[in-house]
Amino acid sequence: MNARNPGIRLYIFDADDTLRRTTVPGKPCPHRPGEWELLPGVRERLSSIEWGSGGAYLGIASNQDQVAYGHMTAETCRGMFEDLIEAATGARRPDACIRFCPHALEVECECRKPKPGMLHDIMRHFGVSEADTLFVGNAPTDQEAARRAGAGFAWAWDFFGAGGG
Ligand SMILES: [Zn+2]
Repeated sequence: MNARNPGIRLYIFDADDTLRRTTVPGKPCPHRPGEWELLPGVRERLSSIEWGSGGAYLGIASNQDQVAYGHMTAETCRGMFEDLIEAATGARRPDACIRFCPHALEVECECRKPKPGMLHDIMRHFGVSEADTLFVGNAPTDQEAARRAGAGFAWAWDFFGAGGG
């Protein structure tokens, strides 16, 4: 079954509180494997989409300033996203495009959402137009990044149908 939204060829997801949540009280995002779990509805929705050749492309665009503050390395951060994609879709996806902003909040960079840099980069990577791209997130900065990138946007609770939780 291919439960793709009509016309969408590229799905880009925010990570924290969109696909995953931390299991460590007081931490806004995980710093190492074992500190996160999938949000309800994510596996059901994403495993119903046909990914890769003939299906849809998958990207991650996440602000991860915790890297700049030394709470984890960029390698650990990326590895957790690879594990997240596997947990969410049911398979390793080496063709997924993972982008995260590792910069400190006080640093002016071109990637941190609500800037559209990461979304532009992912769309360029796959050669998919804004009109065929949907960004799914949970924060106003996600919605604003999608608007600036010219891509579609969906709130995580609508996309995953986990409303009320
Ligand atoms: Zn950045």
